[in-house]
Amino acid sequence: MILLLKKRTLGFMGTGLFLLCLSFGTFGTFNVALHPNMNKWKQEKLVITMVKTSQKAVALTFDDGPDPEKTPVFLDSLEKYNAHATFFVIGNRAEKQPQILQDMAKRGHEIANHSYSHSYSRFSSNQTAIFKEEIDTAAALIEKITSQKPVLFRPPGGYLSDNLVNLIKDEQLTVAYWTWQQDSKDWKVGTSGTTIANHIINNIKPGQIILLHDGASNGLETAKAVDILLDKLTKEGYQFVTMSELIKLENKE
Ligand SMILES: [Zn+2]
Repeated sequence: MILLLKKRTLGFMGTGLFLLCLSFGTFGTFNVALHPNMNKWKQEKLVITMVKTSQKAVALTFDDGPDPEKTPVFLDSLEKYNAHATFFVIGNRAEKQPQILQDMAKRGHEIANHSYSHSYSRFSSNQTAIFKEEIDTAAALIEKITSQKPVLFRPPGGYLSDNLVNLIKDEQLTVAYWTWQQDSKDWKVGTSGTTIANHIINNIKPGQIILLHDGASNGLETAKAVDILLDKLTKEGYQFVTMSELIKLENKE
């Protein structure tokens, strides 16, 4: 198939155009930051990757929980430093751990939507009906358990498409991406808490959205990193706020 296409395309349009077609083919099917509409979505505030502010505030965001063993460790660390964070929970996990979600809400954290199933195959199908079912089911669960209506959605695997962003717009939600410099790949098994913390501390700037995982198998190392970075950055004058609070600081001096 590709060979046939290549022969025809090369014949009629030349190599450059062929490569361009291939690239757009990739954008259409899966992932991620290099989507050709990314800048437009950012300008329209449909996708947020960072907040422009000179206040020393950042948002810690934790994905893929709640996890009965790991998430409570994060909650205790945050409490110790009077820090607030945003938890992007998976619906089918939240369903099994409602008390952890209630605890998050009680302690002043934001609970956000990370889909019901976190299934890459469902998200790569690129069907609006499937996106809607995933987002609405998780949102209803979060609201039922915590009485908080989630306003932020983070797609599993960072998956983005026109269909998904159009739906987000219709549902008056915001796609909560993260700041590129603050993706420490903390979920990779074997990455130490110190390595994760150093990545974040060395790249810290006001307005960043820091991507971490409480629900991944390396989560206890991430929890150690959170303890280290909260200690260090709190002393440097950083404030840790929820992502919705951070968005309100846009353009604040
Ligand atoms: Zn995830």
